[in-house]
Amino acid sequence: MGIHVLEDQVIAQIAAGEVIERPASVIKELTENALDAGASNVHIEVTGSGKKLIRVSDDGHGIPSEEVELAFARHATSKLQTTDDLMAIQTLGFRGEALASIAAVSHVSLTTRHQSEATGTKLLLEGGRIQQRKSTGAPRGTVITVENLFYNTPARLKFLKAENTEKRHIASVVTRYAMAYPNIRFVLHQDGREVFRSGGTGQLSDVLVAALGLDTFKDMLELPALDSERDSISVVGYTSMPSIQRADRSRITLFVNGRWVQDSSLSYAVVQAYHTFLMKGRYPVAVVMITVPPDLLDVNVHPAKAEVRFQDPNAVFAAVQRAIRRAIIDHSETPALRGGRSFSDFNWDEDTAPQKTWQMGLGIEMESPGSFSHQSSGAERETGYDHTIPFGPTSPARPRTLPMLRVIGQVGASYIVAEGPAGLYLVDQHAAHERILYEQFMLEYAQKEPLAQFTLSSQTIELPAPEARLIEENIDVLQAVGFKLEPFGTNTFVIRCIPALLSDQDPLEAVGGIIDELEMGKTPGHASIEEKIIQRVCKQAAVKAGTVLSMQEMQGLIRQLERCQSPLTCPHGRPTMLHMSSDELAREFGRK
Ligand code: ADP
Ligand code: MG
Repeated sequence: MGIHVLEDQVIAQIAAGEVIERPASVIKELTENALDAGASNVHIEVTGSGKKLIRVSDDGHGIPSEEVELAFARHATSKLQTTDDLMAIQTLGFRGEALASIAAVSHVSLTTRHQSEATGTKLLLEGGRIQQRKSTGAPRGTVITVENLFYNTPARLKFLKAENTEKRHIASVVTRYAMAYPNIRFVLHQDGREVFRSGGTGQLSDVLVAALGLDTFKDMLELPALDSERDSISVVGYTSMPSIQRADRSRITLFVNGRWVQDSSLSYAVVQAYHTFLMKGRYPVAVVMITVPPDLLDVNVHPAKAEVRFQDPNAVFAAVQRAIRRAIIDHSETPALRGGRSFSDFNWDEDTAPQKTWQMGLGIEMESPGSFSHQSSGAERETGYDHTIPFGPTSPARPRTLPMLRVIGQVGASYIVAEGPAGLYLVDQHAAHERILYEQFMLEYAQKEPLAQFTLSSQTIELPAPEARLIEENIDVLQAVGFKLEPFGTNTFVIRCIPALLSDQDPLEAVGGIIDELEMGKTPGHASIEEKIIQRVCKQAAVKAGTVLSMQEMQGLIRQLERCQSPLTCPHGRPTMLHMSSDELAREFGRK
């Protein structure tokens, strides 16, 4: 094939691919247009994953009738004229590409009435070609319906993920814009069901309650207003108390001048602000709105406008870090206000509680059954369930995989020192207990025995729409491992049961931890979702580092570890123990 100029239609589809990657990209672009048009209400309707139908309606200023066709021409925009304008963009759109790109790969119907005109216009397009135009009565504003997305680009269609994944992306886009524009009312309907609504009160806090759920929001700290020496940078928003820990940074949401951005350096600034407050590999939840003068910002660096460039990135980094750090420090200096639990204050409200609450996990009889229920108010014990773990010292059927160890003591309330025929052992109590619980849980699971469950009465959890979809998708898997959740309204679930192992834990935290696992999804070649959830449950249930153990408790734990199939690592593959042989000891002391 010789060199030739591509047909317009082909060019349009190639360009569309850069901007419109998935149904959520359509919603993003149409929402941005609605916001740029000064809308107060943005209504988004989706059928299925959005391939079939997406409709965005707004009450903005509308498009003048003589410009309706032009709106769909490539590089046609009302938001920019000269290159100088590019240097100080105040609108979300500026390239004049979105409508052309969307129309090139779908069937579009547009109804719009400009605020200065009495009648509206309706335009129908197929694959970018105008099929029909007529005058019509319409309220002020614009309604765009996009049907059969990617009908003419089979390759793009093939790359779409499962319906639920696309639905989640859509819900994320809408909730993000609602956060960035708290004075606008957003409504999202998926398959005829309202899954998200923001009230347009102008308060970010109101949107966050709707977007994150009250359970997460109550653990968020408002960022303080700092008088910055660079007043030109403003940072507002909310960040989570250190007691909230997530497994990845996907819950850090950043906006720059009202635009959602993905900026690894800025999310690093957020994470760094938590230095020494969060465990390594754990991340906070944060919603951070950064505002800088538009001329100090280049928004024209990414096809989907998801990245920006600052003239002074270090100043922005520092401003974000300072605001977050201040919020955390102010919070931790007022212990009376502390809502979360750290390792050290976990369960210490009754002085004998710590031992009692986790003893049952170690297979030792509890002194007073029922003392565990103080954490889950409204919790009842399911009749007939024995809270002791059924194997351990009392199940000699399992072969020994470690030599008999003699417990000597505990170091730093975290490690058990033990002696065996081959020298000295230092056992990580948390990792070891995780291993014990994991093998026991997997055994029950593999034998398809009904898993021990702990029944709760009337505990509900309200989640952000994307997380609620994730729970819905995995409801059967969750049930199989002991979490019984029932849909209760839009994004709310009743927690009926949780695995018995977690009976002494806050059920909301238990479910929150599981969502983290689900969000990370299934990586090919790695553990199944079920296995990951089980690992997480065991991690949550295992005795924490920083818990003082009695001699008897340590012996119980070591006895059970001795009979694990893989006693040397925790379910995540980290070591449970360090071993120093008698030879090594002798060598270190210069005896050899
Ligand atoms: P851009 O937003 O970059 O200008 P688009 O292709 O998204 O490019 O839109 C082209 C033009 O169509 C916009 O500049 C605007 O004038 C008009 N337009 C699009 N959507 C709307 C809307 N919902 N309300 C009013 N005008 C709109
Ligand atoms: Mg646009």
